[in-house]
Amino acid sequence: MKKTKTELKKIALEKIKTLFQEARIQFNENSFLSNKYVKLARKIAMKVNLSIPKEYKRRFCRHCYYYLVPSKTCRVRVHKSRVIYYCLKCKKFMRFVIKKKL
Ligand SMILES: [Zn+2]
Repeated sequence: MKKTKTELKKIALEKIKTLFQEARIQFNENSFLSNKYVKLARKIAMKVNLSIPKEYKRRFCRHCYYYLVPSKTCRVRVHKSRVIYYCLKCKKFMRFVIKKKL
């Protein structure tokens, strides 16, 4: 039986979750693997036209897809209700707006 698109996306999401978990585990041992997992997760997401969940978007650099670990591979700063990530690999910034809870 052929899998539906929703099913494929569900499977892809599971794979992405696993890859990011692995990337975190592997980081101390082998950061090269972490970067590989991020790229793989991105490929899987693109294949099924799925956007990477928000919680993982801050875990990698959107310019060079380097796995980001605060104070190790990136610097994190909070400025005017924005979180700014500075990638130490490609020296670029990423900004995220902090949503205020009402
Ligand atoms: Zn980068």
